[in-house]
Amino acid sequence: MGSKQDKVIQDAPNFLKQIIESDLRAGKNEGHVVTRFPPEPNGYLHLGHAKSICLNFGLAKEYHGRCHLRFDDTNPETEDVEYVESIKEDVRWLGFDWQEHLYFASDYFQQLYDWAEYLIREGKAYVDSLSEDELREYRGDFKRPGKNSPYRDRTIEENLNLFHRMKEGEFAEGEHVLRAKIDMQSPNMNMRDPLLYRIRKVKHHRTGGTWSIYPMYDYAHPLSDAIEKVTHSICTLEFQDHRPFYDWCIENIPTPGHPHQYEFARMNMTYLVMSKRKLLQLVKEDLVSGWDDPRMPTISGIRRRGYTPESIQLFARRIGVSKAESIIDYEILENCVREDLDNIAHRAMAVLEPIKIVIENYPDGNEEEILAPIHPKKPELGERKIYFSKEVYIDASDFMENPTADFFRLAPGREVRLRNAYVIKCKEMIKDASGKITELRCEYDKATLGGKPTSDGRKVKAVVHWVSVQKSIPAEIRIYGRLFAVADPENVADGKTFKDNLNPESLKIIPNARLEFSLQEATPELRYQFERVGYFCLDSKDSKSKSLVFNRIVELASGR
Ligand code: ATP
Ligand code: MG
Repeated sequence: MGSKQDKVIQDAPNFLKQIIESDLRAGKNEGHVVTRFPPEPNGYLHLGHAKSICLNFGLAKEYHGRCHLRFDDTNPETEDVEYVESIKEDVRWLGFDWQEHLYFASDYFQQLYDWAEYLIREGKAYVDSLSEDELREYRGDFKRPGKNSPYRDRTIEENLNLFHRMKEGEFAEGEHVLRAKIDMQSPNMNMRDPLLYRIRKVKHHRTGGTWSIYPMYDYAHPLSDAIEKVTHSICTLEFQDHRPFYDWCIENIPTPGHPHQYEFARMNMTYLVMSKRKLLQLVKEDLVSGWDDPRMPTISGIRRRGYTPESIQLFARRIGVSKAESIIDYEILENCVREDLDNIAHRAMAVLEPIKIVIENYPDGNEEEILAPIHPKKPELGERKIYFSKEVYIDASDFMENPTADFFRLAPGREVRLRNAYVIKCKEMIKDASGKITELRCEYDKATLGGKPTSDGRKVKAVVHWVSVQKSIPAEIRIYGRLFAVADPENVADGKTFKDNLNPESLKIIPNARLEFSLQEATPELRYQFERVGYFCLDSKDSKSKSLVFNRIVELASGR
């Protein structure tokens, strides 16, 4: 954080800051700011969640408040502890700390049940016994008002009795539901006696078989916020029409807190799908290697890919928060990643497609240690040792047998500078029977070590990277492209799905790269700039001490 580019590119506007500041000025909530991040533990978090995490934890930090991590675990069929643990890990990795404020909606099940009984006693909730189809029919639609259920006027005693027996597990799923008694004619469908509870005879990952009824999200959410005395409950726009019911719950139940809900536009990005359900399909159908496949927009995926938490935070600030739907260009994220990596990445040399060079006038068996900076602008990071010897590799793309007019690197009879080392000149090409170049014979200019001028003042402008043949290590390199081939993968013709838009070239494996010796010490936490090649990191999963695997995080510059 705090790179100099931050000052150049302003953070984008965030209307929630204005709301909070005006609330603080008006002395609302006794000057407290309490937000929460409320994931449902039914999948791994993705970049959209990252935005919400940065927003909620970021606002709390900025206004000296706190942010809770609350698992919204009201839907036992799809939830699992595996997801709970991964979500915690992801939030921590992003750089945020909920301290002691870790909560589960399921911790409130008893309180929510008691409040439901309270609503019944107040005449504001009733047990309905219509079938699922009838419920839908009675609810009406946008054009048609709803109708009152024949069970709407049950007595308080009958409702209490039935609700209690629902809880005791006496009825089958779907036999009864508990509904709020509001207004079946309301133009807002969410106010037409919304469901509060349904019977579900499934074990919950935390409460086990204790409950046979589970609260609906729309009922549990405002009340969980209120129990925790959340002040600003921030959610995505699709909940805007649910806000009247959110407020109804807070107004009609004697809750300790009085939270308010604010909506912002969900983040969408080009070349990605951002829904747990769709990401789950990719995992289940083996279209990616797992939730943490480095091409996935999941937090575990981008982490393994080598994106940094700082770059995600920078991204979140830069895209801002608004109510207008928009699609963020994936390049904005990549630029944030580059900006951060340029600052922190250790420099190293790696040759992806090696071609061997033998320096004929260099002494046999000689080896020189050359010191090169770990970061050109950060002398405090120190230096690394690179080894020069008679045989080195350069990248095949840095040589051309018949150079085109715009090619200035190595070619027969031409000179090039080996980065941090000597100027060499190509004397001869060795080819195999098929005509493929297997080796280049060169001579070096002894005067030119470490960027010194040539012995006779000749100019050599082109610089290429290289590694020693003997003192280099083999590695597999994985080059990632976009997961989807088109900017809007969900926009599909009839009979197609978003999966038809997967990019068949999203992973290119380079099996035989050669890396400079210092990369033996690489760890997955460190990021590297392979000079002239791109940003890379060690793969945390597939890399073994004898066979290294590096992921390309991002190109050096966009479009390269
Ligand atoms: P998905 O649609 O991917 O399943 P979700 O909204 O169902 O996501 P939750 O676990 O319910 O996932 O979300 C937790 C929080 O993250 C919510 O407050 C939600 O609004 C927010 N969130 C989810 N997706 C996005 C997104 N694309 N942009 C911004 N916030 C998001
Ligand atoms: Mg959800």
